[in-house]
Amino acid sequence: MSRPLKAQIHLQAIRHNYAQARRQASGACAVAVVKADAYGHGAVPVAKALDQDVDALGVASIDEALELRAAGIQSPILLLEGFFHVDELPLLVQHGLWCVLHSVEQIGQLEQFVLRQPSISLRVWLKVDSGMHRLGLTPTEVADALVRLQRLPQIAALVLMSHFACADEPQQPKTAEQLQIMHALQAQWQLPMSLSNSAALLHWPQSHAQWVRPGIMLYGASPFMQPELVPSDLQAGMTLSTEIIAIREVEAGESVGYGATWVSDRHTRIATLAVGYADGYPRHARNGTPVWLHGRPAELAGRVSMDMITIDLSAHPQARVGDQVELWGENLTVTEVARDCMTIPYTLLSGLTRRVPRCYDEG
Ligand SMILES: *Cc1c(COP(=O)(O)O)cnc(C)c1O
Repeated sequence: MSRPLKAQIHLQAIRHNYAQARRQASGACAVAVVKADAYGHGAVPVAKALDQDVDALGVASIDEALELRAAGIQSPILLLEGFFHVDELPLLVQHGLWCVLHSVEQIGQLEQFVLRQPSISLRVWLKVDSGMHRLGLTPTEVADALVRLQRLPQIAALVLMSHFACADEPQQPKTAEQLQIMHALQAQWQLPMSLSNSAALLHWPQSHAQWVRPGIMLYGASPFMQPELVPSDLQAGMTLSTEIIAIREVEAGESVGYGATWVSDRHTRIATLAVGYADGYPRHARNGTPVWLHGRPAELAGRVSMDMITIDLSAHPQARVGDQVELWGENLTVTEVARDCMTIPYTLLSGLTRRVPRCYDEG
């Protein structure tokens, strides 16, 4: 037997979550975002599981796109940040990749390229900076850009795109401001539009437009940290589990782990589990972070080490070496765990390292 830590990936759940996204944004098409190795779930198996039903897949770079094409994925693939260098353009055409353009420089480079390629066809999503101030043309640059792009016969389709800074915070006025800017542009230019990440898809129906771009919700995790906003109809895409590899007893006043930061206030059984920060379990998980054992939570006790964590077995007198423990997944949401690690589920899922074997349910 090898190390008991594994990430079980539930492809059927991911398919269910994609269908939920489509249902929530009915009438819109949905780009399934599978960047960063499908948020740690494995881009190729996830894309294969979705390939039949998906409108398009979204990735962060051409390398991610080519990995999918090499695996036989046929669906349209959108490069969410476009090309980083003009060298990528021939490959983009060859593999039928859809391309975001987010700067005036890129538009100039594209014009130069297509000048020499009269018979190609490209689909372009023009990214507008409606307030996030990370990527995109300013609203005042859009008119000139669209006139230039619409002149090019090689551009087969154009979509207006933007990204929200605060869609996961329902009280924030910024989303409405961004929406207003984009709706005005759409009214002026009469083009299909794409605005919504998972949070906007779930909470801002006015943002759905023609294309939505769900990412985190496909994996069954919530884009919202507030418990009352966590969507109930999603299924966990990953169950990370391990086993108890040792049990010991400590007396009141004895400490556990590096830095001796956790000190027992009574006679306590401590279990050691095979998972640590080198697997992507966050080192800043605080004491009390839940794990799932025998149908109920148990609490982290002591600092996370590179290969191990320790938990308090006070509520689990029956626990034995070899027992299964869920770190997050079907019983314990990755969102809850993230809360105790002062982070968001995105970092936990995408931060799972190569050392953790991914096992796939029957797709
Ligand atoms: C990653 C990404 C998404 C998906 O965001 P989620 O919050 O995971 O749903 C959507 N759009 C763009 C441009 C992205 O980069």
